[in-house]
Amino acid sequence: MFIQKPRGMHDILPDEAPLWWRLERTARELCARYGFEEVRTPVLEYTELFRRGVGEATDIVEKEMYTFEDRGGRSVTLRPEGTAGAVRAYVEHKIYSLPQPVKWFYIGPMFRYERPQAGRQRQFHQFGVEVFGSDDPACDAEVIELGIDFLAAAGLEGLELELNSVGCPDCRPEYRRRLQEYFRPFAGQLCEDCRERLERNPLRLLDCKNASCRRIADGAPVITEALCDACRRHDEGVRRHLEAAGIAYRLNPRLVRGLDYYTRTAFEVVEGAIGAQGTVLGGGRYNGLVRELGGPERPGIGFAAGLERLILALKAKQAGEPAKTAVDLFGVAVGEEADAALTRHLRRLRRAGCRALRGFDGKSLKAQLKAADRSGARWALILGEEELRRGVAILRDLRTGNQKEVPLGELENWWTEERDYDGSPQS
Ligand code: ATP
Ligand code: MG
Repeated sequence: MFIQKPRGMHDILPDEAPLWWRLERTARELCARYGFEEVRTPVLEYTELFRRGVGEATDIVEKEMYTFEDRGGRSVTLRPEGTAGAVRAYVEHKIYSLPQPVKWFYIGPMFRYERPQAGRQRQFHQFGVEVFGSDDPACDAEVIELGIDFLAAAGLEGLELELNSVGCPDCRPEYRRRLQEYFRPFAGQLCEDCRERLERNPLRLLDCKNASCRRIADGAPVITEALCDACRRHDEGVRRHLEAAGIAYRLNPRLVRGLDYYTRTAFEVVEGAIGAQGTVLGGGRYNGLVRELGGPERPGIGFAAGLERLILALKAKQAGEPAKTAVDLFGVAVGEEADAALTRHLRRLRRAGCRALRGFDGKSLKAQLKAADRSGARWALILGEEELRRGVAILRDLRTGNQKEVPLGELENWWTEERDYDGSPQS
């Protein structure tokens, strides 16, 4: 019986891979420009890390984690997000004792047991960044700027940046109390999850995707009026820097992140074309997290962008044209001896940076030339017994049909000259 891939997980086939490279390259180049360095943490962590770092009263921990016991009886979890692992590494390697701020980025797969739909998968990929050790509003603005630049460089347009402050441990408790006061009379009309949230995590009542809960939430008090002076000043600072950078934003006092560790700045970038799953990037400040995970007091801020959603949005506007990997040369041999010689000479060419393919299975000259055409190669390198005896190869330009002989000893030179002349292929 044929076994399919697990539900909610996807194969990225070769016709899509170049698009992924492009996104990853864009992310890496931008990060270099902003001074962010790459960190690669394990895909698997001890479950406790996410329970503490993401928060017990979150959708992720309550119902979305891939958790199991390893063979030693320890509970482990496939990472549902990147921040907890990054913070663990920051603490574990005492990065907090180096000069701050520390600016990191990551790219990789995340796992959440969700109901699969367009833009919502069980394995998906995120590009994310974290800055540790600065509480400067300019730092918040820089992180947001990097996120916006990334999405724009990837080819997205029509982006909306939504911005809010979720307060801090000084002012949030009072706001939570006000929220509870507002929602309690509606308890009977809330969904089951929201009735839970009412007691455990009332801020998340604002985040419910259920239409009737949303209607009730529309009348809820907003956090803006409940912020303490320090949070208000921070928020004003962030906006001042965003304005200086020329980045447009929309204040959304109902924007709360699903994770407990966020303090102050919270933001999301929404793309209009892909509908319900339109949030392509989300992030915020998490000043309490490093402490929560056993480190010293260190502020932090970051974002994560969902690459599948980004690709969906690109495809919706047909900017995601899949590119085929380019081929420079296709080797064709006639006869056993020439066949072995072709192996040797292709190896030399590949070492010189030439993207060279060949046919297999002893096909006829005609069939091999057809395959050469189909490959999209610029050149066919043809070797028969006669050529071998004379120590040359025939190089046919498949665009023009012109051909010439090149001594076998000079193949690398020929290639280097062609490449420099053509200017197209890069090794
Ligand atoms: P949502 O409200 O859509 O569930 P979230 O708040 O759970 O999003 P975050 O944890 O902030 O999302 O993750 C950041 C980004 O990662 C999201 O904005 C989205 O682009 C992407 N993302 C999150 N979950 C998924 C998923 N299951 N499949 C694909 N992309 C996802
Ligand atoms: Mg979610």
